[in-house]
Amino acid sequence: MIKENIHSILSEIPKNVQLVAVSKTKPVSAISEAYEAGQRHFGENKVQEVVDKQKVLPDDIHWHLIGHLQTNKVKQIAPFIWLIHSVDSLKLLTEINKQGKKNNRVIPCLLQFHIAQEESKFGLSFEDASEILQSKEFEAMENVSIAGVMGMATFTNDEAQVRKEFRLLSSYFDKLKSLYFEDKESFKYISIGMSGDYKIAIEEGSNMIRVGGTIFGSRT
Ligand SMILES: *Cc1c(COP(=O)(O)O)cnc(C)c1O
Repeated sequence: MIKENIHSILSEIPKNVQLVAVSKTKPVSAISEAYEAGQRHFGENKVQEVVDKQKVLPDDIHWHLIGHLQTNKVKQIAPFIWLIHSVDSLKLLTEINKQGKKNNRVIPCLLQFHIAQEESKFGLSFEDASEILQSKEFEAMENVSIAGVMGMATFTNDEAQVRKEFRLLSSYFDKLKSLYFEDKESFKYISIGMSGDYKIAIEEGSNMIRVGGTIFGSRT
C-alpha cells in the first residue's frame, strides 16, 4: 500500500511541491518500500531515530529533521542531515553553524514559526525571526543556510482557520524574502501541510509537504 499511497499523492500535487514522507515510529522496512517507489525525502522528529535509520538505509536519502531539536543533539545529525525544519532560536542556529563548520559543510535550515492558536513552547514570531536575521551573530555564520520557513496549523476541523494560518506563514515568507533574502535563491521553501491539510497548504503557497499517516498508515 505504501507505494500506491505515494503515487497517489504525487499524482495530485504540483511538480514544484516536494513530498517529505514522515516515517517517524515506522520501521526501516516501511521506508525501504517507499524508497523502492522512488521516494527520497524522509522526515523524522527524533534525533536518535533518524541517526539509527540513516546508518542502515541508502546514502542517497535526503533526511529531514522536523521535530524539536535540542542544542546538545545537533552534533549527531550534523554530518548528514539534509534539512532542519525546526530552528526556533539563535542559540540553536549558533550550534548548528558550529557543527556545520566541524563537518566542513553548510547545513540548510528552516525557521519554524508559531502560527497555531494552541499554546506551544516552540516556534518563532515574525519579530523573533527578524531579530535573529538582523543579528551580528547570524551575519557571521558561514555554515548554515536559511532555506525558508516551516509551520504547523492548529489541530482543528475548521478549514478556514487552518487556511488563515497557512496564509499568514506564506506572508511571512514573502516579507522575509524581500527584507533579507531578495537575491538568495536558496531561500525557497514554505514547509506547511500534513496528511489532513496538505491540499489547503498547497493552495496557500506550500512547496514542501510533510506527510506521514496518508503514506504509512496511522501511528499507534
Ligand atoms: C508527525 C508530523 C507530521 C506528519 O503528520 P501526519 O498527520 O502523519 O501526516 C508532519 N510534521 C510534523 C512536524 C510532524 O511531527
